[in-house]
Amino acid sequence: MDKMIAFCGITCTECPAFLATQKDDDDERKKVAEMWSKQFNAKIELKDINCDGCLSESGRLVGYCRICEIRKCGQEKVVKNCAYCADYACEKLSKFHKEAPDAKNTLEGIRGNI
Ligand code: SF4
Ligand code: SF4
Repeated sequence: MDKMIAFCGITCTECPAFLATQKDDDDERKKVAEMWSKQFNAKIELKDINCDGCLSESGRLVGYCRICEIRKCGQEKVVKNCAYCADYACEKLSKFHKEAPDAKNTLEGIRGNI
């Protein structure tokens, strides 16, 4: 499977929700739902764990990704991901990266090679 880097820099193809969906494995979906319910103090159910990744047009996304402004913006600007954007790193991306340093590192790595 090719690596999918989201607009924000998250590696979708390493996300447990993405992996459970691609395997169509309900035992894994259940584990992810339980893990994230604890982690995010929210009621996440097996049926919520369906995701084809940020760059997919299938419409299957999980949680925050369904309402994400970074994804919407990246699609409107038609960039491969935010590393390729002339406005990198905008305020909304910088705010997100404070919570997701790995995603930031991924985009910084891409920018270093552009
Ligand atoms: S939807 Fe947003 S937060 Fe989710 S992977 Fe895509 S850009 Fe990142
Ligand atoms: S403006 Fe920000 S969120 Fe939008 S594509 Fe550029 S870096 Fe990403």
